[in-house]
Amino acid sequence: MLDPRYNVCMNLNETSTHRPPSVTFLGAAQSVSGSMHLLQTGSKRFLFDCGSHRGPRNEARARNAYFAFDPTTISALFLSHAHVDHCGNIPNLVRQGFNGPIYCTHATKDLVQIMLEDSLRIQEGDASAGRGFSNRGRTLPPPLFTREHVEKAIENCVGIDFQKRIQLDDNVELEMIDSGHILGSAITCVSFTNQQQRYSVTFTGDLGRRGIPYLPDPSPVPAADLIICESTYGGKRHDTLEGMAAKMAKIVSATIERGGKVLIPAFSLGRTQLVLHYLRTWMAQGVVPTLPLYVDSPLAQLIDTVYEKHRHLVQPTRSEISCRWLETEEEAWECTSQRDSCIIVASGGMCEGGRIVRHLTEHIDDPRSTIVLVSYQAPDSVGAQMLSSRPTVKMQGQNWNKWIEVAEINGFSGHADKDDMEVLLRDAVDKTGKVRLVHGEIPQMAAMTAQLREMGFADVAAPRRNETVFV
Ligand SMILES: [Zn+2]
Repeated sequence: MLDPRYNVCMNLNETSTHRPPSVTFLGAAQSVSGSMHLLQTGSKRFLFDCGSHRGPRNEARARNAYFAFDPTTISALFLSHAHVDHCGNIPNLVRQGFNGPIYCTHATKDLVQIMLEDSLRIQEGDASAGRGFSNRGRTLPPPLFTREHVEKAIENCVGIDFQKRIQLDDNVELEMIDSGHILGSAITCVSFTNQQQRYSVTFTGDLGRRGIPYLPDPSPVPAADLIICESTYGGKRHDTLEGMAAKMAKIVSATIERGGKVLIPAFSLGRTQLVLHYLRTWMAQGVVPTLPLYVDSPLAQLIDTVYEKHRHLVQPTRSEISCRWLETEEEAWECTSQRDSCIIVASGGMCEGGRIVRHLTEHIDDPRSTIVLVSYQAPDSVGAQMLSSRPTVKMQGQNWNKWIEVAEINGFSGHADKDDMEVLLRDAVDKTGKVRLVHGEIPQMAAMTAQLREMGFADVAAPRRNETVFV
């Protein structure tokens, strides 16, 4: 289904060998969700990512429902990683006729299956999929895709090794290298010929942090005629690992003294595994006081099996401290209502849905407890309200007194910061044509644009949605 609004301003349904190669930014342009960029090599067209757009319900649905191009004309999709803002709309692309291969790493292929099935469950309104008790009684719009489309999408995934160049046809080459963001995440490098000239495009996907040795450090970003680079934390500096441990120790000690609980909302893929790894490690080392550790996230429990399967890609957790998965509603209730202090890591990084909601409704007005935010908080999210100075929070349609202590540890971020970007991009300075920043809010993009220009990149910009750049 084509969106008639877009066709007037773009020529995305025309393919010609005489057309110079280009990339059109269709999502995560001056924003952080719905990652999707259309590469036209001249004779063929490819997509980098096909993520779900997040935002107010009606707007998000409209953005996700339509594509600005004919999905049947896409030769292949290059998927950077399994977060839904990068892969969540693939089944809808399949529903609308895309039938090409979806290239991704082996670990991403395994994770995508879990994430897309979970997306479908959420769309179908199954509360057990992670939206907590909140959807009960609500009428949800029909899903944008069905199980059949999810299955077809998974069938079309082609797992490839890191750092192995793949010849897609006699013209196009593809290589994926580790971006250190989550298990399986990749920087995608594509090269192709147009009018006897060779071109290269590098799409960073999401770049991880350096020096957090749970996942390998992200690889340096390869130089290219066009680098499409994420900019989530442009201009910002994260806590160091030591700083994170010290902050966590202080938070946990103070909460124990008050007799409260520590609630940690965390995205199920990537953040939960990282938080658990370091909490268990720090408790075993005596850096953070030992407390019972609970995890309320059925999705993270499933994801854990994939991390286990690909354990050669992550550092093993060497700790005698274990965590207990809360599998039933009764277990969750028992845990959250017990008198003793404990740490509960629960799904829902921005507190908008997921299992964290049921723990927050119990403790948001309890000044003895602490919520520790460890994820990016979109400006309109419940998590952002937690961080604001306002005394109340609007959550699940109700106003709540915010008497809980609020803390933030940004070092658990899976995204590179200002210093990481400098190191990851510096080798590409002299050999790169253009850099286009995506996946960031405008202030972060502005800061990163200035930083990259200072480093010597001559042509840096942050395109708007639907803008096209020639490679
Ligand atoms: Zn991501």
